Formats: sequence, structure tokens, C-alpha cells
Amino acid sequence: MAEIVIQNVRKDFGDFTAVKSSSFRIEDGEFFMLLGPSGCGKTTTLRMIAGLELPTSGEIYIDGEEVGQKPASQRDIAFVFQMFALYPHMNVRKNISYPLVSQGMPRAQVREKVAEAARILGIEKILDRPVGGLSGGDRQRVALGRAIVRNPKCFLMDEPLGALDAEFREHMAEELRNLHDRMGATTVYVTHDQLEAMQMGDKIVVMNHGVIEQFGTPQDIYDKPASRFVAEFIGSPSMNFLKFHDSLEVGATSVTLHHETLHIPALREPFDGDMIYGVRPEHVRLSDASGYRGEVIATEYLGTTQIVTMKTHNGEVKARIGSEQPARVGESVGLDFNGRTVTLFDTQAGRAIR
Ligand code: ATP
Repeated sequence: MAEIVIQNVRKDFGDFTAVKSSSFRIEDGEFFMLLGPSGCGKTTTLRMIAGLELPTSGEIYIDGEEVGQKPASQRDIAFVFQMFALYPHMNVRKNISYPLVSQGMPRAQVREKVAEAARILGIEKILDRPVGGLSGGDRQRVALGRAIVRNPKCFLMDEPLGALDAEFREHMAEELRNLHDRMGATTVYVTHDQLEAMQMGDKIVVMNHGVIEQFGTPQDIYDKPASRFVAEFIGSPSMNFLKFHDSLEVGATSVTLHHETLHIPALREPFDGDMIYGVRPEHVRLSDASGYRGEVIATEYLGTTQIVTMKTHNGEVKARIGSEQPARVGESVGLDFNGRTVTLFDTQAGRAIR
């Protein structure tokens, strides 16, 4: 097992900075997600933890030891694997035992370790089969087996489920998470899929353009987004962003949008200027009692719920409501927002105003 600390880590490729001064801590045994859009620097961050890239500056500690400038071979903690990188000419047993055999481990011990990994993964019956004819799921299990036998302190995974179709992906995600819970080894997992990160992770780092936008539990990140970027990236449909202008004192509990007073969580800082009122679709209700009005411009039926899109004076709003509730395109409706869950953002800086 391993605790990993990233401190002020930066990575330049020539003139280009892929990762800007990053700091975060991965606790021992955590399932930790590096999440962000393509090119944000998550793979580079993972490769620096593995020792496949060396940071331009900053420190990386693994179990208290500074390893930032050590190559992968000297870290002896992490094992990066790609699910489908199997040796096609070898059978399952040989694929799994390969890392141990190449280390020179005695044959009896190799057999024992392979048997144990196969038992954990439930693939005892296919050990003597060639990998060529295996299903996608079994190929993934074999690749996992090859990682497990080395008994690493830490697993590093880069989009391991990226190539799978949606249904199977969900199944393998659950299997990976269960495996982690049984083995307890620290896992660092790169994904651009916010749902996968939310479902699997104990903690998430959200990155954008080489910068850490937020670091926290899935719930922190969903309920208290630190920036407009995070609020937009996490959740589907995305949070609603209503533009307005106001002058707010410390302790303010309401804002004014198009002459209507709307509640917000009490502010700890004053703010004067252009703001965004951020509210998630599930926290919007249609209510005739509300003076804040919009015109329904679209409805999308999703079975038990529906997404209703409305045009308001401050921008478009989507509400996720029960599909039994009437909402017709062209109709004027009152909108009621759950003020306790609202986040305000500074329009210019994009950060949350608390
Ligand atoms: P993706 O999901 O597309 O892999 P990512 O968030 O993992 O995205 P990285 O692979 O870390 O992103 O890349 C971050 C940026 O650094 C990208 O703009 C990429 O082109 C650049 N980059 C990565 N490796 C190198 C390299 N060896 N030389 C130059 N630029 C690089």
C-alpha cells in the first residue's frame, strides 16, 4: 500500500507547460481519480507518479520518500497497465506469470501467485486457454491478473475502460472497484468520464489546462464546485448558469434576478459585479407561486423524469422534474430554485463566491 503526496509539481515540454504547480495527497488505500478533458495533463501527472516522466520542478513523495527524480525502475511501487496489452502468442497462465518469470522468481512460487490471482479474479478455468479467443471481459481480467501478481503497492491506470462499450464498461467499473475493495491497494485512475469518476472514486482531482480546479470527494465536487468549469464538467445535464449583476454584503442570503428575490446560502465574502447564479436541474421546480418566470422551449422525456428547458431573462434553464408534471412548449411557467443548493460564480474569474 502507498500514500502519495504531490507537492508543487510542474511539467514543461519545451515551451509548453502540461502541468502547472499541482499539489494533492492520495491516502493509503484510496481509489483516486484524475479527471478532466482531453489534454488537461492527467496522463502526464500519472506518468510522473509512475516515474515515466520526471517533473520539471516540485516533489513527489511515496510513503514519505521523495522519488520525484527517480526513474520508474527505482520506485518499485507502481505498476501501470493497459487492459488490452496482452501477449497474443501466450496463453492466459503465461501472460499472468510473465512479470514474475522475468524477475527470476522460482517456478513453484510463480504457480502459487498465479493461482491466487486467478482465484481473486475468478478465471481459474481459463488459465490454459490462448488469449486470442477470449471475450473482452476475460482479456481485461487477464491484464488485471498480470498487475496483481506483482503485488504492487499501488495501481496506476490510464483510461482502462476507454475502449469498451457503455454497458460492459459499467460492469467492469464495478468489478474494478470491488477488486480494489478486496485488495485495498492505493489506485490512481485517469479518466475523462465524469460519471466514471463519480461512481468509482473515493477522491477526485479535477484538472483543466494543466491546473487543478478542485480536489475532494465526489460529493464535495458535485455539491460545492469551486469553479464554473467544475460545475459545468460534472453532472448531466450540466448546472444552469443565470447571468445577473448585484451588490452583495457579507451575510447576504438573497440576490435579485430580473426584479425577483432569490435565496442563496449566506455569503462569507462581499461581492459587487457580474455574477452567475448556478443551480442544478434537479433543484429547479415549476411552481405557479413563483414570480420568476420562463417560457418552455423544449421537453425531453426520460421515463420517470423529464428535462424541461425554459428561456428566462437571465438565460436558459433546464429542470429535471417528474414526467407526470405538465409542461408544454410555448407555456409560461414560474420557476422555483432550491436556494440552499445554489452556487454563485464570479463571471470574470469563473470561481465560486462563497
Ligand atoms: P488525454 O486524455 O487526451 O490523454 P490528458 O489530460 O491525459 O489528455 P496529457 O496526455 O497529460 O493530457 O497531455 C497534456 C498536454 O501535454 C497535451 O497538450 C499534450 O499534447 C502535451 N504532451 C504530453 N506529452 C508530451 C510530450 N512528450 N511532448 C510534448 N507535449 C506533450
